[in-house]
Amino acid sequence: MDKKAQLIHKKALELGYEKCGIIPVEMMSGYEEKFHERTQKIPGSQPFYQGQERLLKFKEEYPWAKSIVILVKPYSKYEVPESLNGHIAKHYLMDTRVNESTTEFQNSILLEQYMQELGMRTAVNRKFGIVGVRWAALQAGLGIIRRNNFFYTESGSWIGLEAFLVDCEMELIEETKLKPCPPNCDRCMKACPTQSLCEAYAMNPLKCVSFLTTFGGRDLLNEPLAAEFGDWIYGCDICQDVCPMNHGTWGGTEKFPKLEELADVVTIENILNIDEEIYKEKIQPKFFYLAPDELWKWQVNVLNYMNNHFDQTYISAISEARNSKYPKVKEMAAAICLKREIS
Ligand code: SF4
Ligand code: SF4
Repeated sequence: MDKKAQLIHKKALELGYEKCGIIPVEMMSGYEEKFHERTQKIPGSQPFYQGQERLLKFKEEYPWAKSIVILVKPYSKYEVPESLNGHIAKHYLMDTRVNESTTEFQNSILLEQYMQELGMRTAVNRKFGIVGVRWAALQAGLGIIRRNNFFYTESGSWIGLEAFLVDCEMELIEETKLKPCPPNCDRCMKACPTQSLCEAYAMNPLKCVSFLTTFGGRDLLNEPLAAEFGDWIYGCDICQDVCPMNHGTWGGTEKFPKLEELADVVTIENILNIDEEIYKEKIQPKFFYLAPDELWKWQVNVLNYMNNHFDQTYISAISEARNSKYPKVKEMAAAICLKREIS
């Protein structure tokens, strides 16, 4: 094994990463074909993937890059607060990509510094990735992609992937021992509430609850799929929760930094009352898929939940939301009042 690769691998494991692989940038050549295959299979998904085309062009922006260091960060050791369980996807609750108060974020900085001390030039995009991370992790033999499109290691799919570009030629490839999905299993596809996961290894991201409750779904009132969101208000874990390959993989014993204090704030009951300044200061930096001026989107998602799970206890909250300063919240609340005959 390459000496520098060995040192990076050792350091990464010491810092708490589950796995570390290193591939030459040339091993990303098959990614472009895979990328286009997705839009060919689901033509409607093109607008979604357009925003990710930058991942195909990393060599233009970083012509000096020779290798990709790809790392696995598990998050299943953290406790999920009861009030948020099943409403906000676990990856977003335990998101360490930009959260400086987490050990994972600090360790990512330390690892980058370490590689620089070894004399390497590095580049990383911690928020949205610098290359197609699942493809890179697959090439490095760190795990497999299952029919629900998630990347799995021995920790199941409850992991984040992080990639660094480096200017040093190295290679450190593992051989995964994970078995593929059982031949007849289609639990994830059957469980998907919007048929976003319409076939194995494919999906229509524009129909995914995760997309529709975050970047997308800007007109939920006229979105037929909004009735199918179930309990979710930000993200969706269904196709991972039902997967037998995830059974027994959630440890959930450690507290995630500052999550407890949010658990009482970002609840179904409270979101409609959240003060805009509190949202900007405490909520948005963590759940950054919605912008600082998009508290209204959280509130619309909650109104949609209240409509789908209509109960007498929600009447006053829905009724009051008709006076919201946000037009989309007002509009949604008024439509529910009309439908439910709330005066
Ligand atoms: S995250 Fe939810 S909506 Fe999206 S594909 Fe999985 S089950 Fe379907
Ligand atoms: S639910 Fe079954 S088919 Fe879907 S990813 Fe898990 S094992 Fe594979």
